[in-house]
Amino acid sequence: MKAISVLGSTGSIGTQTLAIVEEFPERFRVVALTAGRNLDLLIDQIRRHAPEVVALADAEDVPELRRRLEALDPSQRPLRQPELLGGGEGLCAAAAWCSAELVVTGIVGCAGLLPTLAAIRAGKDLALANKETLIAAGPVVLPALQASGSRLLPADSEHSALFQCLQGTPWADTARLSTGVPTPGLRRIQLTASGGAFRDWPAADLAKATVADATSHPNWSMGRKITVDSATLMNKGLEVIEAHYLFGLDYDHIEIVIHPQSIIHSMVELADSSVLAQLGWPDMRLPLLYCLSWPERLETPWRRLDLTEVGQLTFRAPDQAKYPCMGLAYAAGRAGGTMPAVLNAANEQAVALFLEERITFLDIPRLIEAVCERHGPDLQQNPSLDDVLAIDAWARRATSELAATPSPTLLTA
Ligand code: NDP
Repeated sequence: MKAISVLGSTGSIGTQTLAIVEEFPERFRVVALTAGRNLDLLIDQIRRHAPEVVALADAEDVPELRRRLEALDPSQRPLRQPELLGGGEGLCAAAAWCSAELVVTGIVGCAGLLPTLAAIRAGKDLALANKETLIAAGPVVLPALQASGSRLLPADSEHSALFQCLQGTPWADTARLSTGVPTPGLRRIQLTASGGAFRDWPAADLAKATVADATSHPNWSMGRKITVDSATLMNKGLEVIEAHYLFGLDYDHIEIVIHPQSIIHSMVELADSSVLAQLGWPDMRLPLLYCLSWPERLETPWRRLDLTEVGQLTFRAPDQAKYPCMGLAYAAGRAGGTMPAVLNAANEQAVALFLEERITFLDIPRLIEAVCERHGPDLQQNPSLDDVLAIDAWARRATSELAATPSPTLLTA
């Protein structure tokens, strides 16, 4: 049985991972869980999975969790009382928990960086969903992977698709993932994008987009932050940088194509011009299961793809003017060093402000662009972890300050 840790167990990635574990109790067991504030769901997960350790983001919430676990009716108690930890150190200790073999990183945002690094340094294999960690700290994460020998398995559906396509090539060796060296025989990557909540909206209407509009995704059910990222297409921009770090291709050979049906999850073009694609219904359980079972394939009763039911697969080029976040992500990726960290932090802060209805939807790219411009003269090509953390904090502050400053270009609410 593979021992799994789930970071961010109460989120969309976390709950789907635990659902898979419950479907394959003979294959997987849970040894560590971490969560933010959702104690009700976490307690239910502790009862069902009896992990060895549980960590909460805020150490002050630990006594409340302990009290509620102890107050459970004996028939409801977990098989064992887990060790309870809290705060940044607790999350890192749970991420590096000794009995774990694979760590699923489902924390949202750069908050996942230190726990992910702790897992890598402890030599754990990773199922990487928390892409913000790689975007913010690629120059730190890649050498850490090389030093520890941890294998990084992509859980993002697009990168899982690329990874799955490459299994059929002479390349099939995850040791090459995240080395920064171009993948042999791989000529081009095409990342497919559903187009997000506003794909059928005229660009002129985006000024009126509300939080409710931006948080309803046509094809995928995900957490709020990534759903807004899908509406701005920043998610696809972040995935371009993620693909660069994972597969070593330069940005001229990583493309985005709008594919509204979300059936093809991404494509690789090989040296001989052959194109390989991975297909399936839009269901995150599939890439998550592949991370858990790799290199094996497990049989599932899940709905099987029927292309006659789909009818049509369509594709179009993305509209750069309607979705400036894509261009900002390419520019940050090409600049390299600390710029992707600034892009990521400014995006996280701008999305948080949008979700609080303090800025408009169109302010999101404007703020990100302004903060990236400010960072230009200070860009560092080979940052340390401390540099990344300092720049992340600076970019969040700069985004909030700019959002609070009345300006002719920022439509603050
Ligand atoms: P959710 O918002 O659904 O879940 C986030 C999880 O992180 C929750 O368990 C939450 O705890 C926890 N959390 C929030 N803030 C903190 C913090 N400061 N410290 C520690 N834990 C925290 O997000 P998703 O599951 O949608 O996304 C998670 C990651 O996976 C993101 O990086 C996203 O980009 C990526 N991803 C998600 C996909 C999806 O289908 N959802 C697809 C591909 C990638 P709590 O709820 O208890 O407060």
